[in-house]
Amino acid sequence: MIYLDNNATTRVADEVLAAMQPYYSEHYGNPHSPHALGRAAHDGVERARAEVARLLGADGSEIVFTSCGTESNAMVLRSVQGSPRRKVVMTSVEHPSVRSLLQSMADRGDIELAVIGVDRTGRVDLDQAAAAIDDATLLVSVMQAQNETGVIHPVAEIAALARKHGALVHVDAVQAAAKIEVNVQTLGADFLSISGHKFHAPKGVGALYVRRGLTVDPLWLGGGQEHGLRSGTEAVPSIVGVGAAARLALEALDRQPDVARRRDRLERNVLTTIESASVNGAGPRLPNTASISFRGLAADKVVDALDERGLCASAGAACHSGAVEPSAVMRAMGVPDDVAIGTVRFSLSRYTTDEEIEVASAIIAGEVRKLREKALVNR
Ligand code: PLP
Repeated sequence: MIYLDNNATTRVADEVLAAMQPYYSEHYGNPHSPHALGRAAHDGVERARAEVARLLGADGSEIVFTSCGTESNAMVLRSVQGSPRRKVVMTSVEHPSVRSLLQSMADRGDIELAVIGVDRTGRVDLDQAAAAIDDATLLVSVMQAQNETGVIHPVAEIAALARKHGALVHVDAVQAAAKIEVNVQTLGADFLSISGHKFHAPKGVGALYVRRGLTVDPLWLGGGQEHGLRSGTEAVPSIVGVGAAARLALEALDRQPDVARRRDRLERNVLTTIESASVNGAGPRLPNTASISFRGLAADKVVDALDERGLCASAGAACHSGAVEPSAVMRAMGVPDDVAIGTVRFSLSRYTTDEEIEVASAIIAGEVRKLREKALVNR
């Protein structure tokens, strides 16, 4: 099995699992209980908070643990209702957890929504950003790196525009964290979301950075955990896991150029052996992500064929009631439909090996050739 779907989720690192284990079997107290087991759990949570803060260049007091990236995003975005400034600005390539939520708030008339487009390379158009962000803007929500293409957005420049107009900045760093530097100070972020399962922590734990002096509305009320922002007994083992994963990621950041070298090799192999294949996204990109379109083929058929050969990748196009539709991201980039529907995302991790890349390249070349031959016969 070769796993090239790490933007979907990652394997829990062995060190992370080892760090979590005692919090199931020994330190299983409630972190708010004033006895020894409670104190042990509390210490584990606070250590993890410091480790996550270090990954983001933040202070521990600015980190709130959540259940996932979607929840972190929702906490910020749902807080903007009821302010005298009503405008929220996002890009056209945000993750659905941002895009759908803001669109539904706009449809209900709770906010005024402005959308900044991207160019053919997938990068945000700064002129459009400058035109969209004004004195009526309360919040600008921009992802640091795009999940389908890996394209890295000029967040610091957009944040500077927002600052000029007194607007706040939310950064969805779910795909960027642990792959490139994510620093809330250099980005100019007021709020920033991450998700553990994207960087070798377990599923079901995320974090939100909230700049000191600011706050968000809790999504629900209760025991007042997490500075009153996220009630409910903390998922201690998972939180300890995300802390360990943050520490490991920081130590491994200097290995990311090796990941980029392997990703580049995969792209080169595919482009040189397969006709009518193209890479989506250009300019600064995450080191691990390759979005490759096989013109004329349907992405779900390619992914199924690769799966049969033990290679896990993901379709960048959605299959709705039998018809394959280009993804919203490919549409936003202006990728022609016959190219966009054949888009497959290959996403590496720091554990992906050179050998896996060579084997994967051969499988992709063979399966795409077979699918194209089949398409010719069926014509
Ligand atoms: N934001 C981005 C950019 C993502 O890629 C994802 C997940 O793919 C999310 C948010 C949502 O994260 P989660 O799955 O932890 O809710």
